Amino acid sequence: MHGHSGIDRVLLTSDQILSRVGAMAADIVHDYEGEDGLIIVPILTGAMVFTCDLIRRMPVPMKIGLLTVSSYPGTATTSQGVKFVEDQIEKLKERVVGRPVLLVDDILDSGNTLRAVTAELKELGAKSVKTCVLLRKENRPEAADVVGDYVGFDIPDAFVVGYGLDYNDMYRNLPDIVVLKDETFS
Ligand code: 5GP
Ligand code: MG
Repeated sequence: MHGHSGIDRVLLTSDQILSRVGAMAADIVHDYEGEDGLIIVPILTGAMVFTCDLIRRMPVPMKIGLLTVSSYPGTATTSQGVKFVEDQIEKLKERVVGRPVLLVDDILDSGNTLRAVTAELKELGAKSVKTCVLLRKENRPEAADVVGDYVGFDIPDAFVVGYGLDYNDMYRNLPDIVVLKDETFS
């Protein structure tokens, strides 16, 4: 499939994802009606593919502010702590100050990423911060305070890749979201 090896099963097909992304975009556009100066902040690199599809279904004026966060470097499959790229923060501040901000990420797991980035954006002076994630893992008691304002799918607690999500920076270009075989993890 797509020339990738090590895949166990498809969890969400490209068609399922795109249909849900369209509905999410409609909800967001509806909720932000009348608000000027929307800033979309995708959390790179994972949210790249999702954000591209989402914003092309949102026919409203917007700007993008990039933020790179890494919590799963290399072959890690558990969070190693949230790290920002410091050089991006000054530029992001100019972009978000006084603006409504929609934070976009691929997946909500422990909630550490969204919690830390939401706090940072408020600190930088955003007028409001809402969160949008494509995936949310079920049974995350430690993330009870971070639910996500817009959520695409609730999924079982497995490590998934594809549609922007990686393992060791691979699989991001898969159109589907898949679960890897156990033996794929080195
Ligand atoms: P959290 O900080 O909520 O634990 O996790 C959020 C970040 O961890 C996501 O932005 C994503 O980069 C990474 N992550 C969490 N779960 C998974 C997963 O199942 N697969 C992949 N590829 N990344 C994940
Ligand atoms: Mg991420």
